[in-house]
Amino acid sequence: MNATTTAQAADIVAALLFILSLAGLSQHRTSRAGVVFGIAGMGLALIATIVLAAGEISSTATVLILLAMVLGGAIGLWRARLVAMTEMPELIAILHSFVGVAAVLVGWNSYFEVEAKGAAQTHVAGELLRIHHAEVFIGIFIGAVTFTGSVIAFLKLSARIKSSPLMLPGKNALNLGALAAFVALTVWFTITPSLGLMIAVTVLALALGLHLVAAIGGGDMPVVVSMLNSYSGWAAAAAGFLLDNNLLIVTGALVGSSGAYLSYIMCKGMNRSFISVIAGGFGIEAPAGGDAEQGEHRETNADEAAELLGEATSVIITPGYGMAVAQAQHPVAELTRVLRERGVEVRFGIHPVAGRLPGHMNVLLAEAKVPYDVVLELDEINDDFDSTSVVLVIGANDTVNPAAAEDPTSPIAGMPVLHVWEAENVIVFKRSMASGYAGVQNPLFFRENSSMLFGDAKQSVENILRALDSTPSGTGPAKAGGGSAQQPVAAGTSAD
Ligand code: NDP
Repeated sequence: MNATTTAQAADIVAALLFILSLAGLSQHRTSRAGVVFGIAGMGLALIATIVLAAGEISSTATVLILLAMVLGGAIGLWRARLVAMTEMPELIAILHSFVGVAAVLVGWNSYFEVEAKGAAQTHVAGELLRIHHAEVFIGIFIGAVTFTGSVIAFLKLSARIKSSPLMLPGKNALNLGALAAFVALTVWFTITPSLGLMIAVTVLALALGLHLVAAIGGGDMPVVVSMLNSYSGWAAAAAGFLLDNNLLIVTGALVGSSGAYLSYIMCKGMNRSFISVIAGGFGIEAPAGGDAEQGEHRETNADEAAELLGEATSVIITPGYGMAVAQAQHPVAELTRVLRERGVEVRFGIHPVAGRLPGHMNVLLAEAKVPYDVVLELDEINDDFDSTSVVLVIGANDTVNPAAAEDPTSPIAGMPVLHVWEAENVIVFKRSMASGYAGVQNPLFFRENSSMLFGDAKQSVENILRALDSTPSGTGPAKAGGGSAQQPVAAGTSAD
C-alpha cells in the first residue's frame, strides 16, 4: 500500500470514529467514550494528513506545520485547563471564529494558487475551474459570516458588549439584500474572477455575520451558538472541497448537520421558529421598576428551608445558571444524598436551555456524581410538580418563569418552562431580586407559595446541610407556606 492509499484508509477510520464520537456524546453515560473516540479520530486524521503532505512539501514546511501544531495544542491545553464551566459558551464561540477565519484563509489561498500557477497546472483545469471559483466564494462567505458572527457571540456571552439586540431600521431587508448580493457576486466571479470581487465578498460576509448576530438578543443566544457551530461545520466542508480533502468534507458535514439539528431542537424547546431567531429582536431589556406591580416577596433562611425539607416527602431541584456561577453542584449533590438517605424522593428537573450551554447543568451534576436516573428532562418531570412537597430553584430564573406560560405579552411567552409554581412550596436561591438572562421580571418570586433564600447558592446549600444535621428526619409531608413564620418584605427590595 502506498502513502496515499494508507492515508485514505486512515481517513475512513477517522470519519467512523467521528460518527461514533457524536453517537457517544448524545448521552451522559456514553459521553466519556464519545470524547475518547473524537480524540482518536482527530489524532489519526492529523497523522494521516501530515504523512501525506510530507511527501509533497519541503522538510522546512513539515517542521513549520509541526511547530504550529505544538504551539496551537499548547495554547488549547492551557485555555482548556483554565476555563471555568460558566465561560464554556464563549470559549466555544471563539473557537468557531477560528474555523471561520481558517475557511476564509483557505479560500483566499486557493484563489491565489490558481492565479499564480494558472488553472492548467492545478487540479481544477477546464470546466472544473468555474466550480472551483464558486467553491472559493462559498467557502469565504460562510467562513467570514462564521468569523464575525462568532466574535460578536463571544463578546455578548462574555458580557463585553450588551446582550440586547441591535435594531437597525430594515434589518431583515439588509440581511436578505446581503444574501442576494452574495448570489450575484458569485455568478459574476465564476464568469470573470477578480481580486476586487474577492475583497467585495469578504467585506460583505464579514458585515453580514456581524449584523446577523448583533441583531439577536440574550434569550436566543443558545440557538446562535449552535447555529454558528453549524456554520463552522459548513465552512470546514467548503474548505475540504478547496483542499481536495475528503475527511474535511465529511467532518464538516457532520458538524454542520449536527449543529443544524441541535439548533432545531433548541428552537423547539423555546417554542421559536428558526426564522424568527435569525430575524432577531428577542431579548430586549425588560422595563425597569416591574417589581412594584408584582406584589410582595417573602424571604426565608437556611434553618426554615432545612425544616421544610426535613418534613418533605418529595423534592425537585431545578438548577440554572446561578448554580454554575456559585459552583454549588457539590453541596447540591451532598444535599441530594442526605435527603435520599432520609427517605425523601429527590429528583432534578433540567430545562434544555438552563445555564449558558445546552447540557450545562447535566455536566455539572455529572461532575458532582449525582446519579443519572434522578436527573430528568423538562418533558419527563413537568407533570410532577403539582404532587411535589418542595421545589428548590437553585440559581434558575428564566427557565422557571410562569410569565412564559401565562402572559402572552411577555417577551418569553410560549417558551416551555418548568412548572415549579405548581408545587406545594418553592424556595428560590439567588442573591437579589434581579432578573435573569432575558432581562424579564419573574412573577414566581411573588407567589404565595414561594420564598426567597438570598445569598450565594453554594453558601446557602451548605448552610441548609448544616441545619439538616441537627434536624431529625421528618415523617409527614411539608406544610404549605414554609416550616415557620416567614417575614414579608416589601417588593423590589434587592439583596444585591
Ligand atoms: P438565568 O440566567 O435566567 O438566571 C440565573 C439566576 O442565577 C439569576 O437570576 C441570578 O440572580 C442567579 N445567580 C447568579 N449567580 C448566583 C449565585 N452565585 N448564587 C445564587 N444565585 C445566583 O438562568 P436560567 O438557567 O434559568 O436560564 C438560562 C437563560 O440563559 C435563558 O434565558 C437562556 O435562554 C439563556 N441562555 C442559555 C444558553 C444555553 O444554551 N443554556 C446559552 C445562552 C443563554 P442574582 O443575580 O439575583 O443572584
